[in-house]
Formats: sequence, structure tokens, C-alpha cells
Amino acid sequence: MVKRWLGRLAYGSRYDDVPWGQRVYVRPGERLAREAQWRLLTRRAPIVSRAAYERTRSLGEIEEFLDCMMCGESRQQPLFEPNGGKGWRYHVVRCPSCGFLYRNPNVRPERLGDLYATGYSNFLTGKYAANRQRRYDLTMRAFSPVFDEGKERRLLDFGSGVGLFLELAEQRGFDAYGVDLSPESVAQANERLSRARTFFGAPQDVPEIAAGGFDVITLWSVLAHLPRPLDDFRLFRSLLGPGGVLLILTVNANSLLLKAYGSQWSGFTKNHLMFYSPRTVRTLLRRTGFAGVAFAPHYGDTIEAGTTRLPAGLVSRLRRNVRLSDGGNMMRVLAFADEEAIGRYGGGPLTVHRLTS
Ligand SMILES: [Zn+2]
Repeated sequence: MVKRWLGRLAYGSRYDDVPWGQRVYVRPGERLAREAQWRLLTRRAPIVSRAAYERTRSLGEIEEFLDCMMCGESRQQPLFEPNGGKGWRYHVVRCPSCGFLYRNPNVRPERLGDLYATGYSNFLTGKYAANRQRRYDLTMRAFSPVFDEGKERRLLDFGSGVGLFLELAEQRGFDAYGVDLSPESVAQANERLSRARTFFGAPQDVPEIAAGGFDVITLWSVLAHLPRPLDDFRLFRSLLGPGGVLLILTVNANSLLLKAYGSQWSGFTKNHLMFYSPRTVRTLLRRTGFAGVAFAPHYGDTIEAGTTRLPAGLVSRLRRNVRLSDGGNMMRVLAFADEEAIGRYGGGPLTVHRLTS
């Protein structure tokens, strides 16, 4: 209430028509104010030892306590407590050494299936489906020409759900495969697809996939769900052939919206486990053997699809603030397996950052 009143005082009613998800990017001065607010929060929040932290939290049946997986730091900086009303609640800590944000306690990997046992495929279809496919298309366009032509290229969609992306991939000519943890999603996907195939389980259990040699691996809104990201990424790296690339779409832990809304941030969903920023995703890729990385700033689907109702002046202000803060709400990452991949795609509009270990 007080915040709303302060907003009214500072900006009047000028931005009332701008959706909440875009307001922080277009109101003058707000980017700098939110960034200062974040620095203050992370400087002031107490840092505790893991033992002290464990004493303050109860551990659910499917949960475990973690150290930071990106750098090994055991100290914890408790920051957020997202909740979905009555249904769920968890704790998010920040690593005081590298800034990684993760749920702690986290979910034990062998119990991950519990989160997706029933009903998840219903969430993945319906209205969600059309928006998803638009988002896949916009993301591939942002990295053009890497995904323009699929002929004679092997593609693995990890966490393929009901096959919405595989459908686009087979249309583009990719020799496409998927894996997923939900058996009912896999069944639905295989009904939808004509040439592409999805499988239930882990990549190493499926001979067609374990054979490797992939040109492309995609992770659409999957990264935040992985309880053992280093193991998974070492596997992805080994499944990629020479010149291979890995595409990631995930929520951005450096989002200006997280800095503005804290525990109420839209990226803190029920099944998300870890939250990466451009900085921490680099660490993950470097430690698992990737040679380089490029980012495509995320301005939001309506802006990129050209369907937004924002006036042109505000659109350019939004774009500028996303770029200056590295703070779009989603993060789009293209990882290069080796020098051959960098050589093949790095010359165009993409800025490639080399990852040296
Ligand atoms: Zn860390």
C-alpha cells in the first residue's frame, strides 16, 4: 500500500497502462533505484554457517541441505521465502561467494519424479502451448542463423514435455529426439509427433540418445529444475559432437523484476530449484567443459513478436534498460561445445565469450 502510494507520488498515473512486468523497465530512474536496493539487501542480509542455517529450517521427506554447487561455498545468505498460498513454500538462499541463488533445502534427485508424477502434462498444454511455441520461435530467431536449418542435424530436447518444441524441430528438418521424466507427457508427445521420438527416463538409458553425436541440445525452461546441474551438463557436453551447441532458456536471477518483487517474483515457481544469472551460468558451463557462451537479451515476448501496445518511446527505453541491467526476466543462452562451434557460429551478430578454466 505504502509502496503503491510512493509510486503514485513519483510517477503520477503516467504508467498505469503499462503492465506490471514492464513497468520497472520503463519508469525513469527505476532501474538504478532497484539495483541500489538489491546491493543494499545483499550487503545487509546476514550470512550464516551451514550448521547454523540447518538449525533454523525443518527438512521435508524428499529434501536435502546443500552447499553452493557452483563454487562449493558452504555459508548461506537467506534471502527469500516464496510461497504459492496454501500449496507450497520454500527458502531461497544466496551464495555469499559467487552470488548463486538456490533453494535450500533442495529436492533430493531420486525424489525429483515426485514433483512431476501427475497432472504436469495438463499444465503443459492448453493456452500455455501456443505461448510456448511462440517463445521457442522467438528464441531461435534471436540466435539466427544457428537454428534456421535442421537438415542432417541431430537434436536432443532434454525435458521435452508434451513435445511442443520437438514439433517445431521436426518441421525445421531436425533429426529430433526427446527425453522426459513424466511418462504421461512422453505418451502425449509421441502421439503429436510424426518423425521425432521422445523417451521416458535419462539419456544414458536410451541407446538412440546415449550414442551421442548431437549437433544441438535444447533445455527449454528445464535448467532451473535440475538438482545436479554439474552432472547433467557434463553429460550434455559428452553427448554433443564436434561443433555442437546447447541452447538454454531459463528465468534470469539477475532480473530487474526479482530485484523489485523479491519473494513474489514470477521466477520462484513451485518446481524451480536453482536460479542462474549470466554470471553463474558461465561458471556452470566453464566447469563442465564448454568453450564459449553467447547471450540474447530477453525483452519479453510481446515486444519481440511486435504485438505490444507500448508506445515506441517506451519500447526503446525498455530495451535499453534490459541491456544495461543484464536484467531481462528470462535468460537465453547459447553454449558452444568447442572451438569448432565458436568458429562456425561466432562470426555473425553473436558476441561469444570464451570460457577458460
Ligand atoms: Zn557459490
